[in-house]
Amino acid sequence: MKIGTPREVLDGEARVAMTPDSARQLQKLGHDCAIETGAGERAGFSDAAYKEAGVEIIKSPAALWKACDVIAKVRVPTDTEVKRLRKGQTLITFFNPAENDAQMKQAADKGATVIAMEMVPRISRAQKMDALSSMANIAGYRAVIEAGSNFGRFFTGQVTAAGKVPPAKVLVVGAGVAGLAAIGTSTSLGAITYAFDVRPEVAEQIESMGAEFVYLDFEEAAQDGAETGGYAAPSSPEFREKQLEKFRELAPEMDIVITTALIPGRAAPVLWTRDMVEAMKPGSVIVDLAAEKGGNCELTEPDEKIVTDNGVTIVGYTDFPSRMATQSSTLYATNIRHMLSDLTPEKDGAIVHDMEDDVIRGATVTHGGEVTYPPPKPKVA
Ligand code: NAD
Repeated sequence: MKIGTPREVLDGEARVAMTPDSARQLQKLGHDCAIETGAGERAGFSDAAYKEAGVEIIKSPAALWKACDVIAKVRVPTDTEVKRLRKGQTLITFFNPAENDAQMKQAADKGATVIAMEMVPRISRAQKMDALSSMANIAGYRAVIEAGSNFGRFFTGQVTAAGKVPPAKVLVVGAGVAGLAAIGTSTSLGAITYAFDVRPEVAEQIESMGAEFVYLDFEEAAQDGAETGGYAAPSSPEFREKQLEKFRELAPEMDIVITTALIPGRAAPVLWTRDMVEAMKPGSVIVDLAAEKGGNCELTEPDEKIVTDNGVTIVGYTDFPSRMATQSSTLYATNIRHMLSDLTPEKDGAIVHDMEDDVIRGATVTHGGEVTYPPPKPKVA
């Protein structure tokens, strides 16, 4: 198989789906590799580094799409890119199938197979291909770094000759993949870290990382938002009220709030309201990782950084992984390589598209001329 990676066309996207290292691994699996010239530049990988790794450099995107059996990329393809697909070709990428009907039909009509990386089921066997998690981990880390660069004080408390400095207080809302990464980063920088999640079973994990779980005085807490298939369920209005009451109490005390609350397929729950922002101290920072889905903070503006009248900075960037493009490309390219390794199990490197395999089936959104999204629920955990 010839595997090719084009330069991402979305403005500001710096990631790349193949690195020189992942290309070396792919070649060991028996594949040839190609990239469009400059594809890795913004992630810190030069054409020369790819060349040294045995990768063919192709001048134009059209020529790359034409020459390769498999195209691996990061962002949802543009219409021009979808038009380039042909029968028998496989595209592996984030595809946003829930909101991308037209492109899915077009790809199916062309007889191309599309594997949507966000559809890899969150089951243990698939962790090595779980690009949503590898990107969320980076986003959680970066959210804390971003908060720190907008915060005028240390995270850790210090006693110095020039005076005593109190530690920063950080609240992380939502302790999934991004939230846990944020908690780990915040505690390692020395901040007093608090965390809340509707799934009480994460309390132990939060506490083992040196943070404090915020408990609610609510009898049914254990039932509300309890885990369903690895994800939270929506909370009852009573539970939400209790949660907001607790956050209102915490708002004046917190220096940094990182919000990551999400239930897949839904708009982000609004959990940090205007009055909470108004109750925060000047100089405080909110980083809202849910900005793309509307935001967990009522005042978040997606892709913007704003400063409120009372001096609170609210960061709503939706491209944190791209802001750490070297790291995220390395992890994403590894996810892609694992996907390709599962897709080509034999020595001849040919694709065996096993629709009985839960992971392949789950991620495949078009195949054999058909739209195969949504997939049935996975059978194994
Ligand atoms: P996840 O599903 O692993 O975690 C979400 C957590 O939120 C879960 O633990 C869930 O229990 C919790 N939650 C749901 N409703 C809640 C509520 N009402 N109160 C408190 N907690 C609640 O998701 P993830 O992979 O960690 O992603 C988190 C968010 O980060 C998502 O919105 C995702 O889109 C976003 N993200 C943003 C960027 C960026 O660049 N801004 C990058 C990657 C991910």
